[in-house]
Order: sequence, then C-alpha cells, then structure tokens
Amino acid sequence: MTLETLVNDYKAKTSRSRQMYEEALRVMPGGNSRTTTFFDPYPFYITRGAGARIWDADGAERLDFNGNYTSLILSMEVVRFANSGTEATMNAVRAARAFTGRAKLAKFEGAYHGTHDWVLVSVSPDPAKSGSRKRPKPVASSGGVPDTVLKHTVVLPWNDAEACVKILEKQGRDIAALIVDPLMANAGLLVPQEGFLQRLREVTERLGIVLIFDEVISFRVSQGGAQGRFGIRPDLTTLGKIIGGGLAVGAFGGRAEVMNYYDPRGGKGRISHGGTFNANPVTMAGGVATMQELTPEAYARLDALGDRLRAGVKRILSKSKQPGQVTGLGSLFWIHWTKKRLSDYRSSRPADTERPLRTFMGLLNDGVLLTQRGLGCCSLAMTDVDVDRFLEAFGRVVEKEA
Ligand code: PLP
Repeated sequence: MTLETLVNDYKAKTSRSRQMYEEALRVMPGGNSRTTTFFDPYPFYITRGAGARIWDADGAERLDFNGNYTSLILSMEVVRFANSGTEATMNAVRAARAFTGRAKLAKFEGAYHGTHDWVLVSVSPDPAKSGSRKRPKPVASSGGVPDTVLKHTVVLPWNDAEACVKILEKQGRDIAALIVDPLMANAGLLVPQEGFLQRLREVTERLGIVLIFDEVISFRVSQGGAQGRFGIRPDLTTLGKIIGGGLAVGAFGGRAEVMNYYDPRGGKGRISHGGTFNANPVTMAGGVATMQELTPEAYARLDALGDRLRAGVKRILSKSKQPGQVTGLGSLFWIHWTKKRLSDYRSSRPADTERPLRTFMGLLNDGVLLTQRGLGCCSLAMTDVDVDRFLEAFGRVVEKEA
C-alpha cells in the first residue's frame, strides 16, 4: 500500500482533528507547540484516555504504544527538580562547567538531550555534511544555534570505544562533561556493546570529565535506570518524563561535590537556579505516586511485555521475509526496516525513509499508535492481550507491504 493511500484513509477517519488543526494554525506556528508530535498531513487530537487506550476527536479508539514519547528516582547523593528534561540536561551541563572550570561539552552523534542550545548539535545530522564516522563534525540541529556552540561541542561515534577514547584524550583538558543517553533512544535504541560504557567511565574519570547519564527515557528500564542495569555509576544523572507521573518534570543530581554548586549559601562560582514551578507540589505528588507503583514486580511485568512484543515482531518479520529487525530493552522497542548490523547513529538511519512512515500510518489506521520513527514503549496499563493486538495489527501492516 502506498503512503498516499494510507494518508487518504487517515484523512477520511479524522475530519474533526483536521478542523481542530486548522483552528490551531490560526494561533500557533504549525498549529502546535511540540515538533515531535507533528506529522503530515496533520496530527490527530486526543480527547480522552483510559488505561492504555486513547480516543481521538472523531471517536476512533487507539492502543497507545507511543506513551507521550515514553513519558522515574535513584539514590543519587543530591538532587534538584525542574520542569522538563531540557532544564535537567541544561543544569547538569552547567554544573559540570562550574565544577571543572572547562567549557566544552562532548556528546554522541544522533543523541537527543532536549531543546537548549548546548545540546542541539548533531542530533539527526546529514552524514554527508558531518565529517568522518570516527571523527564526526558538530552540526547545528536547529536554526538559532550560534557557531560558538559548535566550537564548544565535541561529537563522538556511539559504540566505537577506540575512536571515543582517542578524541577524548586529545581534547580532554577542555571538556567539562560527556553527556550520554545510555540507550541512544533518539537513534534507534542501540543498546551499548559489551564494555563500551565501562570504557567511557574509565576515560572520563582519568581525564577529570564529568560523566552525565541522561536517563530521561532510559530510566524506565529498571528501578535503577540504565545505570543500574549496566552497572555504571555516572557523576550526574538527568531524569524527566516518567518521574512526574504524566506531569511536567525534570530532575538532575549525583555527586554532592558537583551538585553543591547549587547551594545558595555557598561562595565561589555558585549557580543560580530559578524556576517558578521547580518541585511544584502537584508534580511531586504525581511523581511519588508513580514511583510507589514501580516495584520490582512492575519492572518484571514491563520487561515481559517488551520481550513478548519484540519476540512477536521478530516472528512476523522472519515469516514475511521482509528485511527488518527490532531493537530495544525492557519496555522500549524500535522497529527498523533493514537487516544491516546497527551499531551507531549512521548505521541506524533508514535507507528508505518512507517505510517507517508507512508503518506508523498503517498502524494508526488499524487503531494502534506508535511514533513516526518506529520507537515505541509498553506500559503497565497494558496486558499480553494488548501486545498481541499490536502484533496482529503489525502483521496486517507487514502483509500489505508484500
Ligand atoms: N533527554 C532525552 C534522552 C530525551 O529523550 C528528552 C525528551 O524526549 C529530553 C532529554 C528532553 O526532555 P523534555 O522533553 O522534558 O524537555
């Protein structure tokens, strides 16, 4: 089935959403205030939700494997709260700069850490304009990011420890922090290869670089996040999404000697951290209630749902003989339309950019919501029946491609 046919089918089912979109266009650029939720020809509007189900303005029911883009707390030594993951990463980077007295930030090509200038670099760059795979060039990911940001960013290739160590050793004395999403949730959910995170920990410790784990998404893979699952202790951790129980939240924390720059009673180079709604009581209550639900048993259930889904997708793909694979960990999964070995941002870029869109649209028309890129997540509101329903719809979408 062509993308055009799928889009026409979508349009036929979503006339009220289209009307609401046209109204929104009059007062908001592009009709929305969040780039990630937009898709062509227009997004649908959710009017109601119950458990893992959502209903749009035209009354259509869908099973939600998007989960507000995968929207949990550790025993960090010290923590501060904010209102978004973006604020959390911005503050963690600032803390690292204040603590080390250095200016540069190292990040991975393909990694997303929010919308402040310092991390809007090489998020989804065109490889043709980004230098060599082993020494990626920093590329602005948005209009409005000044060149000075690029001069202060060091970009690394995921899962290539030798290349990372080489770059970090060369520039280490100028690098304040290395920020890492341990699951590369923006670039295909590429679980780190054996020993990779350990090498990053070793080299950053040796060079005095603050290691930040951005667990805004990956915290959902265990009670101790990805760092708990992989057995790595970063200096700082940033959190968001699920720790607010569905309300706007961010948190950052870790080593007390770094975080103490936020102590307003202190002297040298203290960091000012305003925020009208920081740690607002409603969000904190939502967060605590969510944390209380997230028992070891709850994580075991999430893992089982994710395992069932990934095994089912693999079965369908191998039966269909279509080139595809599924990556992910715990409740998170990503469907890729290639059989190629995926290790870093560049290898995970789809050769056929329409295929993930056709999958998204096909599932949407079949009552299942994924993300446009193929990223999805299971939630505790789901059961095996919901996962099987996803697999049935996915099977139909794959069949139509044959
Ligand atoms: N870091 C990661 C890994 C994310 O996935 C996101 C959001 O998707 C952010 C930071 C930014 O969080 P927020 O959207 O709350 O600003």
